[in-house]
Amino acid sequence: MPIHILLANPRGFCAGVTRAIGIVEHALEKFGTPVYVRHEVVHNQFVCDNLRAKGAVFIEDLSEAPPGSALIFSAHGVSKAVREEAAQRGFKVFDATCPLVTKVHLEVDKMRAQGREVVMIGHAGHPEVEGTMGQSEEGIYLVEKAADAEKLKVSQPQALSFVTQTTLSMDDARHVVAALRQRFPDIQGPHKDDICYATQNRQDAVKALAAHCELVIVVGSPSSSNSRRLREVAASLGVAAYLVDSSDELDPEWLAGKHHIGVTAGASAPENLVAQVVERLRHLGQGTMSELAGVEENVYFNLPKELLAAGEGKRQRSEG
Ligand code: SF4
Repeated sequence: MPIHILLANPRGFCAGVTRAIGIVEHALEKFGTPVYVRHEVVHNQFVCDNLRAKGAVFIEDLSEAPPGSALIFSAHGVSKAVREEAAQRGFKVFDATCPLVTKVHLEVDKMRAQGREVVMIGHAGHPEVEGTMGQSEEGIYLVEKAADAEKLKVSQPQALSFVTQTTLSMDDARHVVAALRQRFPDIQGPHKDDICYATQNRQDAVKALAAHCELVIVVGSPSSSNSRRLREVAASLGVAAYLVDSSDELDPEWLAGKHHIGVTAGASAPENLVAQVVERLRHLGQGTMSELAGVEENVYFNLPKELLAAGEGKRQRSEG
């Protein structure tokens, strides 16, 4: 029996990723090579290799770039200390931090200005978490799971707030928030959580996809938090689920006995990789393909105006 391939909607690039890639490309056009980027601008190997080939140099430590160079902060955001160090070293800085991550940084500022302690729900070591935790010199408590919330000790339980990483599993975050509220009844947070529209829409879409499939393939890099969450959400619904960076990683054995194959992509995975995965699946399983209907996204973030050519800003704004 031939396979049927079903594509999730929405999938792939979000507005923050589109903007971050656009910032690197415009900086390369404006300043020539090299342009330095602190950390992978978005967590996708194909995207970063492509930008590297055009002249972007990815660094982890600012000392790796000569003072005065063009420097871009990745979509995940940076701590205040990194921002200050970049200013001291005299870089021409362009900030590709997603505006939805900046919104969380501003929430931290406001909470601290009100004298509140802050708990961050997120994954230790992820650059977005490091950047957000680095918005408060006094420190932020990190909790990754409900069990951490149950053990957490704070100095000011009556003046406590929480923020979340933007790319968490919605279901996991709900459990951690509930555990925090149980432990600290006065805790305040954003209306629901800080999980961004793109993460929510892609998780809802993969749930709808998994309901029709026996196997789900998520296109995305292992470093991509939101891509890993998509695989986990599909697997939690009882279907086989794999994360692949490209069509080369598809294992034909995964298809054994499977007739309905779902495909989706994390927020940093380009559509051409999805097309290659679909093509290889069709080849392996002589399959047909259709697409699920889903939420239409029309979010657009403008590029910094210093990077836009004359006239381009007007065009970009009218499209926004
Ligand atoms: S996944 Fe969400 S927070 Fe991250 S870049 Fe995309 S829109 Fe911004």
